[in-house]
Amino acid sequence: MPLQLSPHLLYDPGMTSSILRIAIPSPLYQCFDYLAPDQTKLAELQPGIRVKVSFGRREVVGILMEVATESTFDRAKLKQAIEILDSAPILSPSLLKLMSWAARYYQHPLGDVILGSLPKLIREGRALSVATQVLLEKTIEENLIANPAQQAAIDAITQSHNFTCIALDGVTGSGKTEVYLQAIAEIIKEGRQALVLVPEIGLTPQSVARFERRFSVPVLSYHSGLTEKQRFTVWSAAYQDESCIIIGTRSALFLPLKKLGLIILDEEHDLSFKQQTGFRYSARDCAVMRAQFENIPIVLGTATLSLESFYNVQRKRYQHHVLPERAGTASPPSLNLINLCQQNLTAGLSPILLKAIQKHLDQKGQVLLFLNRRGFAPVWLCHHCGWMAHCDRCDAKLTLHQNPQRLRCHHCDATRPLPKKCKECQSTELMHVGQGTEQLEETITRLFPNEKVLRIDRDTTRTKGRLHAMLDEIHSGDARILIGTQMLAKGHHFKDLTMVAMVDADGGLFSTDFRAIERLGQLIVQVSGRAGREEQPGEVYIQTHHPEHPLLQLLLTSGYHAFMRALLIEREQAALPPFSHYALLRAEASDRDKPLAFLEKAKHDLKAKSFHVLGPIPAPLERKAGHFRAHLLLQSTHRSVLQNELEKLVQKLNTHKTSRQVRWSIDVDPQEGF
Ligand code: ADP
Ligand code: ZN
Ligand code: ZN
Repeated sequence: MPLQLSPHLLYDPGMTSSILRIAIPSPLYQCFDYLAPDQTKLAELQPGIRVKVSFGRREVVGILMEVATESTFDRAKLKQAIEILDSAPILSPSLLKLMSWAARYYQHPLGDVILGSLPKLIREGRALSVATQVLLEKTIEENLIANPAQQAAIDAITQSHNFTCIALDGVTGSGKTEVYLQAIAEIIKEGRQALVLVPEIGLTPQSVARFERRFSVPVLSYHSGLTEKQRFTVWSAAYQDESCIIIGTRSALFLPLKKLGLIILDEEHDLSFKQQTGFRYSARDCAVMRAQFENIPIVLGTATLSLESFYNVQRKRYQHHVLPERAGTASPPSLNLINLCQQNLTAGLSPILLKAIQKHLDQKGQVLLFLNRRGFAPVWLCHHCGWMAHCDRCDAKLTLHQNPQRLRCHHCDATRPLPKKCKECQSTELMHVGQGTEQLEETITRLFPNEKVLRIDRDTTRTKGRLHAMLDEIHSGDARILIGTQMLAKGHHFKDLTMVAMVDADGGLFSTDFRAIERLGQLIVQVSGRAGREEQPGEVYIQTHHPEHPLLQLLLTSGYHAFMRALLIEREQAALPPFSHYALLRAEASDRDKPLAFLEKAKHDLKAKSFHVLGPIPAPLERKAGHFRAHLLLQSTHRSVLQNELEKLVQKLNTHKTSRQVRWSIDVDPQEGF
């Protein structure tokens, strides 16, 4: 075969190894080979630089992954890259390693993982903006004097110069944030950078301000609410050598911090760290990998360790630091279980609960009523024959909403007017059943006419800025009774809040989702953590029809750790995570049979003996927004077995004809929906 010399070889005789292997944003899994542009010097070709290439009929920006000597393609057919865009890598070797690891672990196309992590302007090839850092002249707040438990945690973090994972297990209000601040201070003194990852809902101006008051270096936030310009600016700032602190939601994990010295991940149990569409990664698990690749410490903080992390603590893979008490003067809240059976309820509220609300209001406290169900009522029913209003496009009941009065589907957001007659029997005797936050608000306003009641859920906070305005009203003490969904369960610190009630704890006790009980336990502890954060002692009330439930009892009498130990035993006996590993192959189509047929074919391709395949079966909510969904569950006690099989499976699926008739995806370590 005649050697095709491309012109640049004439300029650089060392360039026989001039094949550029480039990650390109595309749904394809592999990298693509190109020849270097003319006059490229080998020294310029470092992995992590951006390269502009033509791809199909488009011009795209890709990332150089490696410079190779051989291509599996005919060299003569390789295209030449158009332009080298960077003189130095924009992504460090450890970050590239992380992204490659994640692409493989989650079975997602590498180009999509890498390019998808970049702000649009970087993806389009814009040069990084190099701004010199302006250190603000301001008074810096002093550190608090750490208590012994805090100091032990701070020392453990700051004395780790290599990779180590520290689970900071501190009850709400125990001073975890103070530990973060003091540990970060040490990192900043060394001129390095710190990354603080928080759940989607936790990134409030108050939390950012608390960091700003402590440091003279920039504190930058990075989340989905930024404009493209802002994203680009923060990304560029992270890339500089200067010390800074980034506080961000899960995507901040992939920022190109060059001098990263510490990762903090707060509320590690929070579900929002798992991306639920597209590249379905766990930012928590990837953060631990990043810390490992960068060889730095990582802190996972929470009052309610996830079962996975709890298990890692038990196996001594994570260091465990407990902050057992509330910092400052606050004492732990008292927990009260209210048995709802045979009680005379007012819109789901028991007399004991109503009395307690009155007591706290009289003592000038604030009250939070927690109900994880928005709308007025979850069911619209015919009293004559039992017919219930369902969504036309989902396998779900419609929720009644007031103002405007409509039936609304919480799965596809479709709305429709209230039918005046039953569809089955034409009766006009229609009624609502059950309570949502709207009804709770109406009832509470009627029962406590002199109090300002504030409802905080997805419906009342749709308008931009509304949530912050409402939080201000809470902080100022104007609003005295708060009604909220899980939006209010975590992260916030309301100083006058003395009472918290879970209006309905039953949903989590008898769910088909094996994680529901773990989540209920976390929710109870988190919601309780809102009460009595300062001088006034807090009280927590939990309403249930099943006060004798053994796990609920264990949680309330022996605490969260005992509860988690019992859950671990149950999971081990049932071979559920973290004792085995799962991956879910999901498929959907507008035709009911196609997803099942596709999954049946996929199942046929899986042959390994060392893992189980369950299904295919219809997904729990089979029809959603007009699409039929099904899944196949893969389970193994060995992660590597699952990994290898998944990789082979994806390759096969990409060649199947049936693959094009459905939308399919792989969810490794799925967190919900099965
Ligand atoms: P967490 O992050 O665990 O919820 P915070 O760090 O927000 O806890 O601390 C809760 C409250 O206790 C805050 O008002 C904080 O200022 C106060 N606090 C924390 N650590 C100390 C300390 N060592 N001494 C006095 N007050 C403290
Ligand atoms: Zn009817
Ligand atoms: Zn629907």
